[in-house]
Amino acid sequence: MGTPRETRREQAEEVVDRLETEYPDSTISLRYANRLELLIAVILSAQCTDERVNEETKHLFEQYDGPEDYANVPEDELAEDLNSITYYNSKAGYIKNSCETILEEHDGEVPDTMDELTALSGVGRKTANVVLQHGHDVVEGIVVDTHVQRLSRRLGLTEEERPESIEEELMEIVPEGYWQQFTHLCIDHGRATCMARNPDCHDCVLADICPSEKGDSEIDLASGDPW
Ligand code: SF4
Repeated sequence: MGTPRETRREQAEEVVDRLETEYPDSTISLRYANRLELLIAVILSAQCTDERVNEETKHLFEQYDGPEDYANVPEDELAEDLNSITYYNSKAGYIKNSCETILEEHDGEVPDTMDELTALSGVGRKTANVVLQHGHDVVEGIVVDTHVQRLSRRLGLTEEERPESIEEELMEIVPEGYWQQFTHLCIDHGRATCMARNPDCHDCVLADICPSEKGDSEIDLASGDPW
């Protein structure tokens, strides 16, 4: 088991430092050309891989050109155009409803506040944070997806379980200038090394400061279960 830094703030700073060196080009992997495409890609990415979403949006974004196109298409037709995506029926409904609201209440523009974004259909705080950060250059919080959730717990940065509570704690300890990058670094490390099922602790740049490190620790702090 690695030995974490004395305080959670120091631990967070050390994690950011090391992961930045490891993944200097870390950034969002969804493809989009404007704010609406970003919003739609993030809605589609819930419980679906970014690769799958990027594959599907290649044709979707050629076929649909603005909020009017999504608002006016019959929902089942839109769902068919998304049918390789997890929960495509529900997501088609969210996208259509969101675009109707964007047209009716926001002059056809994707809104730029947390409250207005989370009032859109199918948009929670995580999705809104991504759209604010990458669509509007507004960093109000930390995006907590499944990788951030797992790594933060494994690394002893939080004991919380709900994404909203994890975000609150992370905002206390991750330097504000890194709120956006912290997510991408965790995602890259979660994909490359600290995978959900079988993390590669032997080859991990955080092993000596990670209290879950498999060599010694009996417990995966992400789940609380034995390795
Ligand atoms: S790969 Fe292992 S040592 Fe590295 S952060 Fe994940 S659990 Fe910790």
